[in-house]
Amino acid sequence: MQNISTYDFTGKKAIVRVDFNVPQDAELRITDDTRIRAAIPTLKKVLEKGGSLIIMSHLGRPKGPSDKLSLRHIIYRVEELLGAKVQFCDDCMKASAQAAALKPGEVLLLENLRFYAEEEGKPRGLAEDATDEVKKAAKAEVKEKQKEFVKTLASYADCYINDAFGTAHRAHASTALIAKYFPEDKMFGYVMEGEIKAIDKVLGNPVRPLTAILGGSKVSSKIGIIEHLLGLVDNMIIGGGMVYTFKKAQGGKIGTSLCEDDQLQLALDILKKAEEKGVKMYLSDEVVAADAFDNNANTIVCPSNAIPDGWEGMDAAPGSIEKFKEVILSSKTILWNGPVGVFEMPSFAKGTNAIAELLKTATEQGAFTLVGGGDSVAAVTQMGYADKVSYVSTGGGAMLEYLEGIELPGIKAIRE
Ligand code: AMP
Repeated sequence: MQNISTYDFTGKKAIVRVDFNVPQDAELRITDDTRIRAAIPTLKKVLEKGGSLIIMSHLGRPKGPSDKLSLRHIIYRVEELLGAKVQFCDDCMKASAQAAALKPGEVLLLENLRFYAEEEGKPRGLAEDATDEVKKAAKAEVKEKQKEFVKTLASYADCYINDAFGTAHRAHASTALIAKYFPEDKMFGYVMEGEIKAIDKVLGNPVRPLTAILGGSKVSSKIGIIEHLLGLVDNMIIGGGMVYTFKKAQGGKIGTSLCEDDQLQLALDILKKAEEKGVKMYLSDEVVAADAFDNNANTIVCPSNAIPDGWEGMDAAPGSIEKFKEVILSSKTILWNGPVGVFEMPSFAKGTNAIAELLKTATEQGAFTLVGGGDSVAAVTQMGYADKVSYVSTGGGAMLEYLEGIELPGIKAIRE
């Protein structure tokens, strides 16, 4: 594995997997170019060091070629941000001549990789009632064709850079399989490096105390993360809809709050495991409950294990936040994933906003703070604190799998 900062790109063609999967409006104008901006330092590095670029990405979830999901529509923004002319190849499998003709400093963008089923290696267009045998044969066929697909992409370049953290949890052609064609010439880009460094600061060798704040709606979707983190953290704060499954499991009254009745035993097992491991657990004990799932509903503040019938827990109340504050401000490393209330409704966003505020203060006081997962990232961004915490992760699914302790295929392929 090479290092992008020290690799000699002089006269070399670099094929770079980026995440240009940007949101667009009805006229296909980009509405948020964060992902393109994020890749620019990596792309500029190659050009400044005398290399040329072959950029590849996916956009959306096409089932085949589609003008709407063509990367052609984003070229204007890449050119503006990169400050260079971008050539385009409208079929990622037919770029040999264009790639071969690239001179140092020149840039070629390949059309959406997912126009080919081979990128993901999953068969398409199967009838709904297809038998297992047919499905198996179709999968084998696409996997076979995928080998040629990967080989063709690899043939365009001398070195490979993966800078698409958002898809690092997928073992796709361009995110993982291609790396084996560059045993001595593969590396992470700066986005990937930043993400890996930030997460390793939390999961690797953290400055303690280490606190995880986990929110969101369901225990079942966070169980992998909770179990993995219980082996690492000193404190765990649990908020959001997950709390009520714990409270009910402990014999509490939760009114009509969100609850997964099939996870009650699991909730008790988690609490037991935390105790065995010496992890201090802090659940929202005081909550704001509402008489309807509505921003304008009537509200009361009550203990989360004594919610009246007909009322549901919607947010962490000040009593809970006070307790969380003590834990957060005495921690040296903090990881936050998931809102502690129904933060999409302003009336129930106060708890989540308070957590964002506390993370900002903790960061000012010298703690390392990492925020990951769509909703918590949205919350810090909404508060204008995205640059007031130590690191905001760009990869939703990839980040969650990393937190579960899963080795991401896109990272493994570069390292091995
Ligand atoms: P997740 O996708 O599991 O990370 O959960 C995020 C969602 O959890 C957000 O849409 C929140 O509105 C929701 N959520 C947080 N707290 C609660 C709650 N007390 N009751 C219902 N939903 C909640």
